[in-house]
Amino acid sequence: MKTAILFALLSLNLWADAHLFVYHRFGDAKHASTNVSLEVLKKHFDYFKENKYEVIPLSKLNQALKDKKEIPDNWVVFCIDDSYKSFYTNGLDLFKKYKYPFTLFVYIEATDKGYGDFMTWEQIKDTQDYGEIGLHSYSHKHMVSLSAEAMRRDTDKALASFKKHLGYTPKYYAYPFGEFDERLKKEITSYGFDLVLNQNVGAVSSKSPRDNLDRIALTGDVNLKYELRIKYLDAQWHSPKNYPTNAKLNEIHVTMPASIKKAELYVSGGGWEYIKPEEGVFKSTKPYPLKFKRTRVIIKYGNAYTSKIIVKTSQK
Ligand SMILES: [Zn+2]
Repeated sequence: MKTAILFALLSLNLWADAHLFVYHRFGDAKHASTNVSLEVLKKHFDYFKENKYEVIPLSKLNQALKDKKEIPDNWVVFCIDDSYKSFYTNGLDLFKKYKYPFTLFVYIEATDKGYGDFMTWEQIKDTQDYGEIGLHSYSHKHMVSLSAEAMRRDTDKALASFKKHLGYTPKYYAYPFGEFDERLKKEITSYGFDLVLNQNVGAVSSKSPRDNLDRIALTGDVNLKYELRIKYLDAQWHSPKNYPTNAKLNEIHVTMPASIKKAELYVSGGGWEYIKPEEGVFKSTKPYPLKFKRTRVIIKYGNAYTSKIIVKTSQK
């Protein structure tokens, strides 16, 4: 009995994870799919406060990962993607009021060219008193469809403008649309960012790779309690790596802790199904037809998630 309790405590501790959440627009109901209303945002913030979550800057998580420190289960990190004007005009006040830090991921071209819906460099500078700034590409294209050279051109341009306006080199990069493949990952990580962030369902533990951190987008009135239960599943994806040329997913090969005897698998367009890894290896050659441009392959064990995004590219 004692051993069972000890084991339960130990595994809880081992599974302690931070939660990275992404917001886009604030109090901007015209764009429902990327918006959070200020009422809901306040509700979220109250929930974190009342339930003793500690909202930390991304740099603190970065340091803990570098130091290979245990990640407490009550850490929450806010990311704000795209640098929409509504963050500055509507959202920022609430972050200030709650003293909640954030990292703003800037879509550089929109600011450089003064697109109406986006923050100006002056406004971005203003937010630095309350949060950190990261990079979200120059042109916010579907990057996986670009040639390696064009990927680098986009990133070089973004870095040059960021440095020109803010005076330093950003440490964090978030993929536009959360889309990436092996080619893009290779190019982006070659720049030596401290952290590279995706938009895959999951959480961040001390085992999370710093060049591939999971983030969950919060839009509308989501059930935070459910999102906060999500844990990191320590797994390695051997396949799929890229979108298959014949639009069929012919192989899934993932390694995970050997203690996992039964888990669940999801492929976009299908439902959840049970899988049985053997000695920590799950390998399936069952073909899954790929119905969408963007497919997610997700494995979950209890509340622990690992996932892979594969995106059809328009260029080879
Ligand atoms: Zn974006």
